[in-house]
Order: sequence, then structure tokens, then C-alpha cells
Amino acid sequence: MEALCITFVAIISLVIFFGKIGSRFQGLLNDSYREAESIVRHPAGYPRTKTDCYEIAYSFESEDCVYQSYNECEKNPQHDGFIPINDVSIVSFPPYYQTQSLVDLTFALAAVTVKLSIFYVSEDRPKTFADKEIPYPFGETSGKSIFLKGSGRIRFVNKYPFYDNKTCPCARCTHSTAPKKDWWMVGVVTAAHVVFDEKEAKSTRCRVDYNTEVKELKPENSLQGYGIAERGVFVEEDRSNVLFCTHDSSLAAELESRVAHYKAQCEKVVEEFQDNAERELVIVVSHPHGRAKCASIGRAERRLKVETGFTKYEYSVATCPGTSGAPVYMLDRTKLPFCNHPHSAAFKEKDNSGYSAGGY
Ligand SMILES: [Zn+2]
Ligand SMILES: [Zn+2]
Repeated sequence: MEALCITFVAIISLVIFFGKIGSRFQGLLNDSYREAESIVRHPAGYPRTKTDCYEIAYSFESEDCVYQSYNECEKNPQHDGFIPINDVSIVSFPPYYQTQSLVDLTFALAAVTVKLSIFYVSEDRPKTFADKEIPYPFGETSGKSIFLKGSGRIRFVNKYPFYDNKTCPCARCTHSTAPKKDWWMVGVVTAAHVVFDEKEAKSTRCRVDYNTEVKELKPENSLQGYGIAERGVFVEEDRSNVLFCTHDSSLAAELESRVAHYKAQCEKVVEEFQDNAERELVIVVSHPHGRAKCASIGRAERRLKVETGFTKYEYSVATCPGTSGAPVYMLDRTKLPFCNHPHSAAFKEKDNSGYSAGGY
């Protein structure tokens, strides 16, 4: 069975110890980091290379094959640098950043981080990115069933009917003679190569609170995808805004309060660190290989300005297949205090390095 399991994401080996990360933080790159900010201007957001690794975990065989890829991981076999979310504490951070506020922020971010399971590859995926040279993920296998895992972040929760009498768009209500009139829209941001369009969104499940390894999926913690926000997909910037729905009023209220709490926590941290020279901290919360939630902690290397108005970041942090779309919290933000950038891809040639999708 294992032989059938195919790990598709390009893999490199790396070993990172936190002590090593901590010591790397001591050698500041403030100057090069800030200088680099104005260097890269590229209409597509980033001069991609053919070897970039889009970090989705997937199999065309079975869901078990996806989970098995964790045990067969070649990129980071020991998964060094990934901290099970419940184990995050003040000592998880490099010395300069050992504050309770950053621990609280990580938990607040984790509370709005979700695992995405996608079961269909849209036939509308392009074969290549706009430059015609770099293959688009799954562009050659569109129209197929798949078991694909990525990560995402809950952006907002809206009560419907909001301004019209739209009934619930979930599959059950769509086929019901009495569709629910009270329902909630939950917006999740991820990478466009994780959920590409509405067809894929309809096949997507969003799992909340998958914090420890358990086999059973609790239905009340899972949301059904039904669409994409208006003008919600940016293919070149690799950003997608997926819409989910739920009838569960208490879950909706809980998620709404988590979004507010996360933003409040971000504002608190920004205020605390605003006068500090060192602000290169990066926190990624994700579901590596579709498994339980982890945090990985690293540093920002460059901020890239994109001609479309987005920014992207390059960073050093542990990522693996399954982390595509995961929220990347950057302490040094210019526009918004909270993170707005999903993880996009890893560099094949540089251990433990990657870059984000476009964000504000
Ligand atoms: Zn791995
Ligand atoms: Zn419904």
C-alpha cells in the first residue's frame, strides 16, 4: 500500500534546531532586509523558477496516502522546527522574542487557522502561469478527483441573510424544499493553487480545531465550501478567498469572536514592538501533510513589492507539504497589524526557505 502512496511535492532535506534558529536571529539582517524591500518589482509578483515547490500534500490514490507522506517525508524527515500547537511556549521563541504576548498571538492565530481538504481539481486550472514557462500546479491533471490538503485562515464571519433573502447555499439546502434562511458565511483565505475556483471550493471541507491527532472528524467542526468571494482569486499572486457556510449559530459566534481576538492580539504585539529595531520574526501556523496543527517560527528575509500593489515576503521557516495557504504572521508589517499573507512555495535550492503569496 505504501508503495502506492505517492508524495508529489518536490522535497529537500533540512535539519533545523531551535537553538540554531535562535542564534541566526542574533545576526541581524536589518539592513539587507530593508534595502531588499525596494529591489524586487515584478508584475507577476515573483520571478518564479521551475523548481519552486508548491507545498500541497496530495494523492490521487487515497486520503491515507496523504497522511502517510508525513512518515515518508524527505524534505524534513524529523519535522524539526514544527511545534505541535499545544506545546508552544515562551521558550519556543528566539531569545529576543520571548514574550507572553507572542505566545498569546500564536494561539490566537492558531484558533483561526484551518485545515482544507479538496477533492476535485478544476478543469479551468491553466497549464502554466502567465509567463507560459512555469507549469501551474495540477494544470496537467485538471478535471480529476484528488485528495489534497492545504491550510488557511478564517478572515471573517457574516450572518445571512445580510441584505437579501439568500437561503443557505450548502449542498443539503440546495436540494431541500425548505432551505435554511439563517446561516453564516465564513471567509477563509488560502493560496490560489490550493483552492483555484468555485468548482474546487464546492468540493472543499474546512476543518476547525484540528489541534491534536485524532482519527474521527467531528462534523460540528467542519464547514462546507460553496464558492469564492467576488474578485476573490488572484492567480499570479497565488491568493484565494474561499467561502464556507454553516447553520451552527454557536460555532459561527465562536469563530467570529476568534477573528476579533486575533486582530486585537496583533494590535497589542505591534504596539509592544513598534520601537524595536528587530522585527523580523515570522510565525507560520499550518497543517503539515494534513496532520494536526503546528507552529513553526523563523525570520523574514526580504519584503518584495509587487507592481499590482501587493507585497510578498521571503522567509526562513520550516514548511512542508500541506502548509500551502497557511497564515504567515510577520511582525514587521507596514499596512495591517495582522497577517494577510498565505504561504505559497518553498525554494528548492535553499533549505528551509520560501515565500508568501501576495498580501496587503
Ligand atoms: Zn514533511
Ligand atoms: Zn445549508
